[in-house]
Amino acid sequence: MAQVFIGLGSNLSDPVRQLKRAIEHLKLLEKTSVVTCSSFYCSKPQGPQDQPDFVNAVCLLETLLSPECLLLALQEIERTQGRIKQRHWGERLIDLDILLFDDCVISLPHLTIPHSEIPHRDFVLIPLSEIAPDTVVPSMGTVTSLIAQLDNSYLYSIQS
Ligand code: ADP
Ligand code: MG
Repeated sequence: MAQVFIGLGSNLSDPVRQLKRAIEHLKLLEKTSVVTCSSFYCSKPQGPQDQPDFVNAVCLLETLLSPECLLLALQEIERTQGRIKQRHWGERLIDLDILLFDDCVISLPHLTIPHSEIPHRDFVLIPLSEIAPDTVVPSMGTVTSLIAQLDNSYLYSIQS
């Protein structure tokens, strides 16, 4: 089984409800189990500022799916929940990103693992450190060292 960390984010249509729905969908994925989820965190938007604040979390999965199959499954969940493609780093009903997939390093046009934005996002690193503080991000370093080097701050509270 591969250990996979998923980043979840939403800032539309009751974001807490959207994250809870997404976690229920993750639990239904074939050959996959949800091991644990972080608390829910509130954050300011990273992109355009004329959009609602986000709720973020990180979940740990164990899966027998390949990275590519998992990406397709996550995109299917995003579609099922009603996500519509909008502006870059803009508002979204649900965003599901593969942050880490074991210690795999993948660089494809449609799939980059580890997720390239990890070092810049406290709303990813802090929830990740809550559930797996000893994690090493391949070619980037430990979660602890990445938190120490953060160049931006978006998080402002824990939601639940
Ligand atoms: P973002 O999450 O960067 O705000 P999107 O959710 O709209 O943007 O994703 C855009 C594209 O990112 C997707 O079509 C997907 O193919 C690609 N992508 C690349 N690497 C990953 C990853 N690790 N997890 C999820 N999507 C990824
Ligand atoms: Mg995404």
